[in-house]
Amino acid sequence: MIGDLVAHHQLEASLGHQVRGDRVCGVAEDHRLETGLGKSSSADVGVEPRAVFGNNGSPWQWTHVTDCSTPRLEIVRHRLARVAAMNLTADRITEGAAIEVRDLVKHYGDTKAVDGVSFAVDAGEVFAILGPNGAGKSTTVEILEGHRQRSSGDVAVLGLDPATAGRAFRDRIGVVLQEAGIDREFTVREVIDLYGAPYSTRRPTDELIELVELSEKADERVARLSGGQQRRVDLALGLVGDPEVIFLDEPTTGFDPAARRRSWDIVRNLTSLGKTVVLTTHYMEEAEQLADRILVLARGSIVAEGTAAELRSGLDTDSKITFGLPAVDEPLAALLDPLVGTSRGRDRRLEILTPAPTADLAHITAWATARGLELESLTVSSIDLEDVYLQLVGEPEVEA
Ligand code: ADP
Ligand code: MG
Repeated sequence: MIGDLVAHHQLEASLGHQVRGDRVCGVAEDHRLETGLGKSSSADVGVEPRAVFGNNGSPWQWTHVTDCSTPRLEIVRHRLARVAAMNLTADRITEGAAIEVRDLVKHYGDTKAVDGVSFAVDAGEVFAILGPNGAGKSTTVEILEGHRQRSSGDVAVLGLDPATAGRAFRDRIGVVLQEAGIDREFTVREVIDLYGAPYSTRRPTDELIELVELSEKADERVARLSGGQQRRVDLALGLVGDPEVIFLDEPTTGFDPAARRRSWDIVRNLTSLGKTVVLTTHYMEEAEQLADRILVLARGSIVAEGTAAELRSGLDTDSKITFGLPAVDEPLAALLDPLVGTSRGRDRRLEILTPAPTADLAHITAWATARGLELESLTVSSIDLEDVYLQLVGEPEVEA
């Protein structure tokens, strides 16, 4: 598994290209089943210190940069299998890369909002950019939409540079901004008709209303709809030009769980229409529910990329020990310092994510027993995706 060292030539053989002398910290893996091709293979590899991108002229052969010294960053996804698949199937070739981003940087004065981000999105794929507030998600997608100018780096959306592409480009993309600000005095039907007018091809209003499940509200003013329903109007507006690529910036932020699930169903409908979807979210669960692949951003940089399962398996940590934080008159250093895992405090409970649950549990119980403490609701469990996410984005650890 990841962490084993693979001989350089072996990796090169499996990838079919030079690895440019970078240190390899992952292990090549066969993904024949996934691609459905008898002979193709891809590899989960870590290569430092930079991305290997677009080898053999293919947009799909790229490897995300990782710091091999940090196990949790060894989550890398090589897309060679997709290349093989594309070369062998005509429809894959015509689909091509919907989006390619290389070394994207965006400064706002002294703030580096996006700091050297590279990724590619397959046509027909749902791609999630996941990260906490301020990670650079909106900046990234707005650059892809052509709404903001980048400081440096290369960006191609549908083969065009959004910074210079004109109306023909806008005709092919759909955008749901984080703050949409549509005219709320119109009815749902009117606002869709209005926004649809400039597009050369457009989806019929009634079909869109049905798609976003607002048939009963079609003649209601937007201002009178709930927040979740208004967001679905935004979605209909993003789709009205029948775009090939749609960008959804935090489509469900602020929703209650039922409204969120309903929106997920709608987003899933989009993929059945063959759309490429790029969505941003700060909900790990949302990314897992919707996305084929997830890019995790924190402070403007990529901290992980892959499917939800790959994100989970890329962590060396697989267990979580939790208990109520005991009230003691001494610093917690004696408890925390010897732990193998990392600890954090949440809701007056202590959580320890650990690759060594047995040793850490033994230490914790010994510490408590020596002080005559009963640890409240002591549990050991498997980590969930939220834990993975928090660890990836680097939630602060508990001070000892
Ligand atoms: P996210 O969408 O992940 O919350 P943003 O892309 O909105 O992140 O913001 C990334 C960083 O850039 C934040 O530190 C934010 O304060 C800053 N930022 C975003 N937009 C602007 C702007 N127009 N001017 C200055 N700073 C900005
Ligand atoms: Mg944002």
